[in-house]
Amino acid sequence: MARGRQIVGEESPKLKISKEALKEALIIFRYLKPYRVIFITGLVFIGLSSGTTMAFPYLLKQLIDSAHGEHTTGILSLSPGGIALVMIAVLALQMVFSFLRIYLFTMVGENAVADMRKDIYRRLIMMPMEFFAQRRVGELSSRITADISQIQDAVTSVLAEVLRGLLTLIIGIGFILFISPRMTLLMLSVIPVIIVIALVFSKRIRKLAKEGQDQLADSGVVVQESLQGISNVKAFANEWYEIKRYNSSIANLVNLAVKNGRMRGFFVSFLLFSVFGAIVLVVWYGTGLMQRGLLSFGDLTAFVVYTAFVGGTMAGFADLYSQLQKTLGATQRVRELLKEATEEVAEVETPLLREYKLHGNITMDHIQFSYPSRPLMQVVKDVSLEVKSGQQVAIVGPSGAGKSTLGALLLRFYEPDKGEVRFDGKAAQGIPLTQLRKQMAMVPQDILLFGGSIFENIAYGKPGATRREVEDAARQANAWEFIKSFPEGFETIVGERGIKLSGGQRQRVAIARAILKDPVILLLDEATSSLDSESEALVQEALNNLMRNRTSFVIAHRLSTIRNADLIVVLEDGRIKESGTHQQLMDIEDGLYKNLNRLQVN
Ligand code: ATP
Repeated sequence: MARGRQIVGEESPKLKISKEALKEALIIFRYLKPYRVIFITGLVFIGLSSGTTMAFPYLLKQLIDSAHGEHTTGILSLSPGGIALVMIAVLALQMVFSFLRIYLFTMVGENAVADMRKDIYRRLIMMPMEFFAQRRVGELSSRITADISQIQDAVTSVLAEVLRGLLTLIIGIGFILFISPRMTLLMLSVIPVIIVIALVFSKRIRKLAKEGQDQLADSGVVVQESLQGISNVKAFANEWYEIKRYNSSIANLVNLAVKNGRMRGFFVSFLLFSVFGAIVLVVWYGTGLMQRGLLSFGDLTAFVVYTAFVGGTMAGFADLYSQLQKTLGATQRVRELLKEATEEVAEVETPLLREYKLHGNITMDHIQFSYPSRPLMQVVKDVSLEVKSGQQVAIVGPSGAGKSTLGALLLRFYEPDKGEVRFDGKAAQGIPLTQLRKQMAMVPQDILLFGGSIFENIAYGKPGATRREVEDAARQANAWEFIKSFPEGFETIVGERGIKLSGGQRQRVAIARAILKDPVILLLDEATSSLDSESEALVQEALNNLMRNRTSFVIAHRLSTIRNADLIVVLEDGRIKESGTHQQLMDIEDGLYKNLNRLQVN
């Protein structure tokens, strides 16, 4: 598994809004499609609710004008009381429209994003091993979370805001033009200034916000790393080192946030000054018009209110633009992920197909392999191997010789560059991946249990297993005794990664899991860590139970445990140097196996 620094909550990158990027963003609509009726209804309600909002200042003008006894120029020629009633009715409509708009959009947004989440998780978990080898898992998952939230925001709010903004602008400018074209021109002449201010400041603010976000992620990494390796921190008495590291990271964060606040303060105060300055200018000009009888009081009021709407919307667009950019960045990453080829993994419930039932004969035919991430370094160089059903094969050799890699090739985590793996004479590629892996079990070197109970951890080998089956498996794995000794028995929670169990107990849980799976082929990456002789004997006995009647492929580090193997293969630098039974290999004068044995005995 890829470990390393995990980037938490990194911000989505921003893209220039281009035709390509927009096309990519259309992926959102694929998820909206099932909910299109609700979505379109929501859009209609956005239109209606903006319409009613925009009608309000107009009605206000009518009310004021009729109260002043002026002639009403509009469509309504009602008494003030009548107009007030209309206004209340409009407000009531507005209430219903706003409710429906928010409700419908949330419904669509949440459902569409849930579908997207499920889709992405499904794909992520089906990605081939190479995908995970090249990425940091923590980064991957937190990015997916951040990107999806960004998309969710876009669907539930940004889209609606843009539509509302556009409607507000069109209707608002239309109204103020209708009220007074001259004042409109005066007003609009200030708007470019507002836009420039908004653009200048919002760019800086965005940059600072992004830096702040990265800094936050950094301090998150400090916490995560130090807590994950807490025993290391304590053993090295490095608590203060970590505290200082965290403090300096937080100090940077505060620094950036304050800078950002200063910038936002400037921005808001400049913006307020410009908007209100413009309004003062317009009102001053408007009062002149009013004195000359060219404008009614109601006109002026409506004008000011519409201007405030238009100005506010324009300022808001700067923010929406940056949101939109972020969303495009996020959809691009999600799309990249959706484009990656996954392994073909059938649903877990698929029954084992008869035609793919394995007997356990394995052939490796002139296998050559280098990891895709390091194509120049050949790890397996022409390995050929023949294993008969039920045999126990041990792979030994110095560290880095390629032993685990052979196991990974058997499980088809990777495909060989040259040569072929065959099961019962059938090319591995011809067997569906799920069918193949269902009949194999692996007991890895560093056993990683899930955080749940012992029962759940064993039952993982066969989802849906009964308590009896799990108990039987535990018994065969020599795990029953220690499980029984715990007050909570099977329900004992193993703690994150199984830290509440001893090394030998973890191994036996893993063995029980493999026994429950009842595989035809067993892959055993023997642990290097030595257990005390008693628990070693227990583990060894459990392993012997597990290996009985199965083809087993043991990657051995301690030669003492594999003396009785049917075949011992000595691997060095990706090649088979020697192979045979223990006795045969010991008879080779100055042989590698003999030397390794001598080293381990001493
Ligand atoms: P050990 O006994 O120490 O477990 P091993 O014989 O099992 O070693 P492998 O794990 O198969 O050795 O590794 C063989 C070589 O392949 C090593 O040089 C290792 O650095 C490299 N290697 C292993 N995994 C990857 C990977 N995912 N990407 C690139 N190179 C890798």
